[in-house]
Amino acid sequence: MENTALLKAIIDNAIDGIITIDDHGKIESINPSGCKLFAYEAHEVIGMNISMMMPKPDKEQHDGYLQNYRRTGQPNIIGKGREVSGLRKDGSIFPFRLAISEVQFSGRKIYTGFIHDLSKEKEAEEKLKDYAAHLEEQVELRTQLLNESVKALEAANSKVNQSLDKEKELGQLKSRFVSMASHEFRTPLSSIQLSSDLIEKYAENSDIENINRHLGKIKNSVTNLTGILNDFLSLERLETGKMEPEALSFDIVGFSAEITEEMQVIAKEDQKIIYGHTGISSIVRIDQSLLKTCIINLISNAIKYSGEHTFIQFSTVVTDKNIIVSIKDNGIGIPKEDQKHLFEPFFRAHNTGNIPGTGLGLNIVSRYTELMNGTVSFSSDVTQSTSFTLSFPNQHE
Ligand code: ATP
Ligand code: MG
Repeated sequence: MENTALLKAIIDNAIDGIITIDDHGKIESINPSGCKLFAYEAHEVIGMNISMMMPKPDKEQHDGYLQNYRRTGQPNIIGKGREVSGLRKDGSIFPFRLAISEVQFSGRKIYTGFIHDLSKEKEAEEKLKDYAAHLEEQVELRTQLLNESVKALEAANSKVNQSLDKEKELGQLKSRFVSMASHEFRTPLSSIQLSSDLIEKYAENSDIENINRHLGKIKNSVTNLTGILNDFLSLERLETGKMEPEALSFDIVGFSAEITEEMQVIAKEDQKIIYGHTGISSIVRIDQSLLKTCIINLISNAIKYSGEHTFIQFSTVVTDKNIIVSIKDNGIGIPKEDQKHLFEPFFRAHNTGNIPGTGLGLNIVSRYTELMNGTVSFSSDVTQSTSFTLSFPNQHE
């Protein structure tokens, strides 16, 4: 008797819910923890089918399980524990761990279910899952931020590299210029030296004719040296991006006639520069100084690369839309295989022999022309003539 009381006290005070059913699923007893878990009073469930405490689909299937067990003797979950869901009186569902044991009592079978509430564990598990998901999100966000910073760093790095490359290019250009200049300067400088020595000598006899001849040579050499230096300065300004064309309106005929006159002075013996203009008007709007450098470069090439007693045709055409400048000579021409390299800095065709030059002129012409939104074209034949044509949009108001 005392034992029974002890057992009842143990069951009544157990933390887990304990429910017993008969082999048809009818509830025979439920302890206070069981009532609390399912939120029922004991009298509301005793005598009812256990399936009332199960959510779908277990609800519908439970009678079937029991029947099957009665018929086959094959237990499904008896003796094993597993996680299932319970249905409270208010319709809410909670997880619990269920362990069922079977007891033979007074010639019939009774099943006892031990119900261990898992709500707290599940909640903690969900929290952990949420936390992990949140952590993943954070990691993703951080990774994205990191990737962005890496990208920004890479962009900055390539910018630095680009400017370093530019700096390197400029450095190479300068050192090439120095070695080329030391070579190119030697001839005009020794010619100046020689002419001044001779002038000294001719001065003793007041030989004016020879003095003038050598003065002319000195002037020529100085023009040559100035030309080389100007070319280099232009190139450096182009490389450092300091060139900004400034379009102004002016009369191209007067401007070209002046250039023709200047260039005629340095032309060879009986080399005639013939200038002509065609067009509706002679007023153009373009950067005067850049255009002048281009024309001077082309005419000085025509002078250098053609012989004495020849003509150099210099023409300008102004239409409503374009300004066209062309310079044509009958000189040595440009070999076909060299033509594709013509506008590269320091390039000189292989038929130039000992004609002096740095190979910078046409590079400057093409880059200036581009700055003025124009184009350069040329046609040349070693046996015939060479002609260079510049074409610009006429930016008149
Ligand atoms: P510089 O820098 O002093 O002008 P350069 O005349 O040699 O030197 P560019 O004006 O750039 O250099 O010309 C490049 C090359 O193109 C020349 O070396 C020459 O071979 C060829 N060339 C240019 N103009 C003519 C021309 N009118 N006839 C024949 N060859 C030419
Ligand atoms: Mg030249």
